[in-house]
Amino acid sequence: MNDKNLEICEIFSSISGEGLRSGTLATFIRFSGCNMRCSYCDTKYHNEVSYYLDIDYINLNDNLLKKLKNRKFVIITGGEPHCQNHTKLKKLIDWLLKNGTEIIEIETNGKYLDIFIKLLSKYHQEQKVCFSADFKIEYLKDYEYIVSSHLGYEKLNKNDCIKVIVKSIENIEAARKIANRFRNTNVMVSPCYDMLSPTEIAEYIIKNNYQNLRMQVQLHKILWEVNAREK
Ligand code: SF4
Repeated sequence: MNDKNLEICEIFSSISGEGLRSGTLATFIRFSGCNMRCSYCDTKYHNEVSYYLDIDYINLNDNLLKKLKNRKFVIITGGEPHCQNHTKLKKLIDWLLKNGTEIIEIETNGKYLDIFIKLLSKYHQEQKVCFSADFKIEYLKDYEYIVSSHLGYEKLNKNDCIKVIVKSIENIEAARKIANRFRNTNVMVSPCYDMLSPTEIAEYIIKNNYQNLRMQVQLHKILWEVNAREK
């Protein structure tokens, strides 16, 4: 966490491409920076900063805030939103909910999920804020540590989801293990492109009757080019 103004990479409206609200029109706020370096990252430009937002001095004529007013569904993503100043991030969320937003989905890589849930616990309970938290399967060697520690996954509910990107059949098995462990939420598997096809995932889930897994394809990668921006 730092004390700087909020650093925003881009703001745009599009169709939510993944998670429980896939297919819904949303306004995206993509924050800059990330604390991980995933090989399959599809937002490698996330370190760019297009706007600095000083939420402590809100100017209602600010063009940036005009873009965010009266947006029913807002997705806060990255990069990793956790890398921003938490107090300022919370103030932005307060502002959005007072200015027409009904639900905010926070996409996070999950590394500091517990901290996020504590910060936004009231809104989370009121179902005004929900989480879409990755479970990075490549760190599976840490699986036992992750599930036995209080990293926040156990606080997710049916309004949230855990996203698992799978590269192999073994990864689907691991996702099933995660779903068995965190039964209060939804576990969604999606293919790592070029490594496993959606059809292979679907057939494996059907063959094994894995009723606690949901699969998704990243809709935005079907609608637009894989690395398209601001769509
Ligand atoms: S956590 Fe997300 S934004 Fe960060 S490197 Fe991994 S895929 Fe990219």
